[in-house]
Amino acid sequence: MTDHHASATAALPRKPVRLGRPSPQAGEINMVAKQVAQLTELVLDGIPLSRNQADWIVENVREKDLQCLLDGAARIRDKFIGTDVSTCSIVAGKVGRCDQDCSFCSQSAYFKTHVKGETVLSGDQVYQASREAAANGASCFCVVNSGLGPTDEEIEQWAPVFERIREPGDIGLGASLGVLTPEQVRRLGELGVRRYNHNLQTSRRFFPNIITTHGYDERLETLRLLKQAGIELCSGALFGMGENWSDRLDLAFELRDLAPEVIPINFLMPIDGTPLARTPPLGPTECLKIIAVFRYLLPKAQIEIAGGRNTQLGTMQDRIFAAGASGFLMGNYLTTCGRSPEEDQRMVRQLGLQIAPFKPDPDRPESIRNTAPTTPTASSRCPDHAPA
Ligand code: SF4
Repeated sequence: MTDHHASATAALPRKPVRLGRPSPQAGEINMVAKQVAQLTELVLDGIPLSRNQADWIVENVREKDLQCLLDGAARIRDKFIGTDVSTCSIVAGKVGRCDQDCSFCSQSAYFKTHVKGETVLSGDQVYQASREAAANGASCFCVVNSGLGPTDEEIEQWAPVFERIREPGDIGLGASLGVLTPEQVRRLGELGVRRYNHNLQTSRRFFPNIITTHGYDERLETLRLLKQAGIELCSGALFGMGENWSDRLDLAFELRDLAPEVIPINFLMPIDGTPLARTPPLGPTECLKIIAVFRYLLPKAQIEIAGGRNTQLGTMQDRIFAAGASGFLMGNYLTTCGRSPEEDQRMVRQLGLQIAPFKPDPDRPESIRNTAPTTPTASSRCPDHAPA
């Protein structure tokens, strides 16, 4: 973190989020605020919070005194991550006709949704999407496939595309292809995949309520293989599926053991036709509390807010940084629309922050910013007009 960025933080107004009326019991607020301040100092001193301490936060920090938790989370982010905003973009390389039954997903063949059949983008389309992501300032570009996991043939089909994406040297290559075998992990490392996204989604306890066609341990095993191979882990969660706070904390502690470099936080975007279509929203306050609690428990991870940012946080989405987030997913999601990169860039500027520059792969120190103009691509156009 440079001094310039530090002063940007100092200048950043920590304007209070209007989260409810002040409590008449000021003494109680002070007690909670005092305890939160002590826990904040522990984390800032590098001491991990215990499960009991996390439970205490969840139970005692209510809407009326959430601001002290958000302030603490932002201080923790500033100390361990800095104030530059990390961004990544994704492209749905293969969409739909998935034989898994993830209850939140528009691509499952189990449910009748707006996603019909299977679509596979061409190598050119995926490459163009990567150029657009780089032009928008994203540090990482992730190619995502539907399905439990790739075949070896699918990986080889992506191999020349991965090489093209890496060639300009101005954006990190990510992939999210599902569960992998040890040999596939090795091959992706050879192909220069720098970061792999594989979300745990929820707690081990709640997982079978959401997915029955594969197990939690399969997902964990892939993450362990990736870690052993030295590929950066991007693994996080989807909140708002009916899980409770105990599930959220279980997941946070599971992630703490895995130590992923990036933790994407998604909030459910209910999709018509899926079992979770009528799930009520969490509301902005709960979303901000989740972000803040994850920052206390995972102080050194990039916490990037992904799906559901617009729909669940609405006009309060610029508060993600005040709650300890360090980045976000820029552009569209897999089968639904995100905000335009221009709007997101404006939000970052208005907060007095800046988007983190791309850091080259260690084995490729050169970074050539490709300034070739980009044209709208399959990824930049909203893939459909789904209400999410
Ligand atoms: S989340 Fe992935 S594995 Fe699950 S149904 Fe959707 S595409 Fe298939």
